[in-house]
Parts: sequence; structure tokens; C-alpha cells
Amino acid sequence: MWRCLMVGVAMLLACAAQARTPAPFTLEPGQSAIALSPYITYRHDTLAADGATEAFARARAGQFAALPGGNPTFGFQDGAYWFYLPVVNRHPEESRWLLVQEYALSDQLDVYLRYPDGRVEHQASGDHQPFANRFIRYRHPNFRLDLPVGQQVEVLVRVQSESSMQVPLVLYTPRALAELMRDTQFSTGLYYGIVLALLFYNLVLWIMLRDPGYFWYLLHTGAFGLVLFTLNGYGFEYFWPDWPWLADASVPLSICLALIGMQQFSRSFLELKERWPAGNVASLALIGFFVLLGGASVWLPYSTSTPLASKAVLVGLIWIVAAAVVMLRRGYRPARLFLLAWSLFLLGTAMFTLLAFGLVPRNFWTQNGVQIGSALEMLLLSLALGARYAGLRNENIRIVQQANEQLERSVIDRTKQLRTAMAQLGEANVQLRDYSQRDPLTGVYNRRHFREAFEQALDARKDNGKPLALLLLDLDHFKRINDSYGHLAGDDCLHFAARCMEDVVVPRGGLVARFGGEEFVAVLPGADAQDALQVAEAVRLRIQQAPVATGGHSIRLSASIGVHTVIEGHHATPEDVIRIADEALYRAKDDGRNCVRHSVVVA
Ligand code: GH3
Ligand code: MG
Ligand code: MG
Repeated sequence: MWRCLMVGVAMLLACAAQARTPAPFTLEPGQSAIALSPYITYRHDTLAADGATEAFARARAGQFAALPGGNPTFGFQDGAYWFYLPVVNRHPEESRWLLVQEYALSDQLDVYLRYPDGRVEHQASGDHQPFANRFIRYRHPNFRLDLPVGQQVEVLVRVQSESSMQVPLVLYTPRALAELMRDTQFSTGLYYGIVLALLFYNLVLWIMLRDPGYFWYLLHTGAFGLVLFTLNGYGFEYFWPDWPWLADASVPLSICLALIGMQQFSRSFLELKERWPAGNVASLALIGFFVLLGGASVWLPYSTSTPLASKAVLVGLIWIVAAAVVMLRRGYRPARLFLLAWSLFLLGTAMFTLLAFGLVPRNFWTQNGVQIGSALEMLLLSLALGARYAGLRNENIRIVQQANEQLERSVIDRTKQLRTAMAQLGEANVQLRDYSQRDPLTGVYNRRHFREAFEQALDARKDNGKPLALLLLDLDHFKRINDSYGHLAGDDCLHFAARCMEDVVVPRGGLVARFGGEEFVAVLPGADAQDALQVAEAVRLRIQQAPVATGGHSIRLSASIGVHTVIEGHHATPEDVIRIADEALYRAKDDGRNCVRHSVVVA
């Protein structure tokens, strides 16, 4: 009832305003592609209450207005939009035209063609209709327009959508559309070719290098490629042609995935965790928000989730650029290429987002800003990753070099320490050998060393032919001294006697040793009998003259000395020489002690 009334009123209005009916648009010979925005009129049916009949009536009544600024973008809107244009075809060769809506995401499009005989033809498209319903299998909704030459046909388009209200309608001849599709296919193929090449290239790098930065780059690039694939209508065409509901959810879902990827990539690239913990927390908070938004977009109305996701893209991008600026100011050099890449992307995306909200006019740059910006961004980021990797490698080389230098320095230090230790050990060894050759009580050589030295001296004598003398000294009545003054006093006396011998013998190039008990022996290389007797006499006198002061006593000592001299041409064994010297010593004892006797054998 109400509906009849409304139609009636509309008809009345139409009659009353017949004079204001828009003038028909004329298709002239030679034309092949005409953007209809400058000529078409529109009306916003906020309640989506009108049907085609009412809309035709309102259009004829002049209730439709020209597009504001000739621009067919209105942002996110409720209700339905009607567009109206009467067309007269004066093109003699083209009676079939194609009407294309050059925006892929509109939900529902209805085209009504009214012919002069009153016949109304209806076609439907949009991503709420199965893809197969389209006249031509093409990413943008399209309609077949039969325009008999010379006749006026009224074209009425109704658009209702939860996505951004963008209705750039273009009329094409079939040939013009075929050529356009060919060009678009080429440039789109080029773009996705770049994306795929970068994806595979970085996938290989990730597999080889295992740097998480590459993984997040892959996620970001892959998800972003999917966003554009969806926005351009390819997702619906190739991925989910029979699932119109997915066409709606795929936009916010893929946007959220790309946002998560790009935040994670930036976080890892800029090393926020280590270099700027506060910025890292902010990044993580954003990622958390994007995860929630992604989850919510599955059940939120498309008209809520898509504008939210579109705004989130700007927020996410601005944050990345801000973080890159902060890191750059902190002297992190890899942030330079990174910042340039994201700035280009930000510019392109800003254009596209502003276009979605109807804030900038529709042109080549605003329409393709995201593609151009993102292709450059992906390329530059791949370069930046490479540069960062090279930086890390150089840093590693520097660290290894530093470690090597450090190692070399410490090896030099250690070698020095080792040399010092070896020298000390050598000295200790010499000292030890000396100790092992010495008699601990008197400090003169012990009998073992005497034996070796004596044998060497005898051998040397054979070669040089010089004489050699042996002195054998025995302290007189030493037992008594021990008995009278004690063994300690006796030890002091032994020590004194040894000093006396050394004082005389060593300056003459001789060697003194303790032969055993209170007996000492001296070897004098090169000494003949006279020299030997002189030395022996000097030793005897020295011992006898100075008393030994010990334990409060003053002890007088005397010694008997037997001397044997081995002269040129005479060969004797050590035992023989010692035995002969011992015999001389016995004679000294027998002669009353405190005297020197030379062996009687003179060879
Ligand atoms: P003679 O004039 O005939 O040589 O008489 P003597 O008493 O010196 O000779 P004897 O061989 O009877 O005594 C040697 C003494 O030297 C005996 C021993 O106690 C003492 N004697 C040997 N070695 C040491 C020692 O290392 N320290 C001390 N204090 N006495 C020693
Ligand atoms: Mg003795
Ligand atoms: Mg004695």
C-alpha cells in the first residue's frame, strides 16, 4: 500500500519536473572509453528503500545531483547509492558496449537499462554474487550494454556495499576493454612478478642464513601481496570465486596479517629488543592489537573491521617510520635504507587510504600508490636486509680479528712468562746440580764430584802434559775435639778447615772436596811437587794459626797433609794417586802430625 503510494508520488514528481530531466549523454563516433563520472548524476538513498522504478522516477524528476567535484568516491557509507545517465549511441559501428565498475570490492551492483519501448533489463554483479555471474571473467564488475544506434537508453546503477563507496564507472567498446585488460595484465604481472621473485629470493636466503629477519620479511611481503591481490579483485577472481563471504573477510584479515608481519619485521630489523626496550614494548602492544583485530574481523561487520584495519595500516606505518627515525638518531646505520623504504610505502599507502575515505581525488598515483610504493619498499627492504647482513658479517670479522690480536698478545705474554720461568728453572737446576755436588756441612765439593773432576783433570793432563798434584788432609786428633767440645763444635772446626783449604787452593785454580769424616782432598792441575808442597804448607799453617771460636771455646786445630804429584809422562789411575797420597799422609801422621809429606815415588 505504502509502496504504491510512494511510486505514485514519485511519478507525480517526475511529471512535474519533466523539464529538469538530465540531458542524455551522446556516444560519438571514434569514442571507445569514456569515464562517466563527469556526466553521471547520483543520489544517496540512505535507507536503501527505493526500488528501480522509484529511482528511475526520482532521476527523471531531477532529484539526482552531479558527482561532487566529478569525484565518484564517498568513503564508508550506509544505504545505497544510485547513479543515473541517459545515453544516446551515435556510434554507427558499436551497438554493444561494456559498463565497467573500476573498483573491485563493492558488494552488490545492480544495473537497470530502460529502453524507449519501456522494457527494463536488469544485471547484477559485485563480490556478493558468484564470480561466474560476471559478463566477462574480469576482476572488475562489468555489464553488457546493448545500445541500439540513435536510441536513448537510460542507465541506472545501484550500489550497496560495506566497503568504501567508490563507483568509477567507465564505458568501453569491447575492443577498448580487451586492450586495457591486456595492458593491466602486463603491469599487474610485473608487480606480482617482483613480489614473487622477492619472496623466493628471500625464502632461499632465510633457509640458508636462518636469520629471523628474513622470515618476518617473507610474512610481511607475502601477506601484503595478498592484500593487494584482494583489493585489486584478483583474490575473488582466482582464490575464492565461489565464496563471496570470504571476499569481505579477506581484506581486513590479510591487512592484519601484513601488519603483524611488518611490525615483527621492523622489530627484528631495528633490533628494538636490545637497542630500544621501550620501543620494543610499544611494537609488541601494536602487534597484540593487530592480532585481536584480525581475530575480530572474522565476525565483526565488514563496514566496521575494514575501516579499522585501514586506519591501523596508517598507525602501524607511522609507528615504524617513527621507530626508524629514533634508531637512526641513536646512530643505528642500517635504519637509513629501512627508513627510506618505509617512507615510500607510507606515502603510497597514505594515498590509497585517503582515497578509500574519499579525501583525495582518484587518479593514477592515488590508485596505484600502494603498488608503486610497496614494490619499491620491498626492493629496498631486501637491499636493507642484505646491507644489514653485510654489516653483521663485517662486525663478526672485526670481532674475530680483535680476538685473534688479543690471542696473539696473550700468546706473546705467555711466551715471555714461560721464558722467565724456564730461565728460573734453569738457574734452579744449576743451583740444584751445585747442591748435589757439594757437601752440606762444609760447603766444599763432595766426594762424588771430586771423583768426576779428578778423572777429568787426569784426562786433561794426558793431553796438555802438565803436572797435577793431589793433597790429602786429615785433621789431627779430631776425635778428641769431638769428645772435649761436642760434635757441634767439631762441625764448626770442619767448616773452618774447609774454608782455610779453599782460601788457599781455589785462587790457584784448584778444587777442594770433603773426602770423608775429617779428611779433605785438593786437586791442583798444573802444580808440580814444589808448588804442591807450598800450597800444602800454606794450608797447614792457616789451619794451625787461627783458633776456632765456637760455643765459648777457642779451639786450636792442626792437620797432617799427604801430597802426591803426577808429572809429565807418568800415567796413573785415580785410585793409584789417592793411595799414594794416603801413604804420604800416613807418614805425616807417623812423623808426629801437623806436617806435610810428599810421596816418595817420584816418577
Ligand atoms: P788422628 O790424629 O790419628 O787422625 O786421630 P783422630 O782422632 O783425628 O782420628 P780418628 O779416625 O780416630 O777419628 C776421627 C773422628 O772424626 C771420629 C769421628 O767422630 C770424627 N768425625 C768424623 N766425621 C765427623 C763429622 O762430620 N762431624 C764431627 N763433629 N766429627 C766427625
Ligand atoms: Mg781420619
Ligand atoms: Mg784425624
